[in-house]
Amino acid sequence: MNNLSNSTHPSWCLRGPDCADSAGLHYSRLVGMARGNEIIQMNVGLWRMDVGPVSPGGVLLEFTLEEDVDRWPVDLAQSHALARLLPRLLRQADATLQASRAA
Ligand SMILES: [Zn+2]
Repeated sequence: MNNLSNSTHPSWCLRGPDCADSAGLHYSRLVGMARGNEIIQMNVGLWRMDVGPVSPGGVLLEFTLEEDVDRWPVDLAQSHALARLLPRLLRQADATLQASRAA
């Protein structure tokens, strides 16, 4: 049955079927992002994969386009790099994209 004891699950794990088998993938609940007028919707959460002594994990980005769902696991270092970069990118986006929309 389940080779993983409950103590091996991160506190945020939903105890889904993926972490009950040998894949050892743990997913958190996904949080929906603000829905604009975009065609692609995005949800974010956490993931961790139990492989050997090191368990890579980070932020999970889920993109939905009608029936198609793509999940992209971003590792922790990349997640932190993205978080550091996003404020600057958003300032540029706000300054240029909103200005062009208003024009
Ligand atoms: Zn789990």
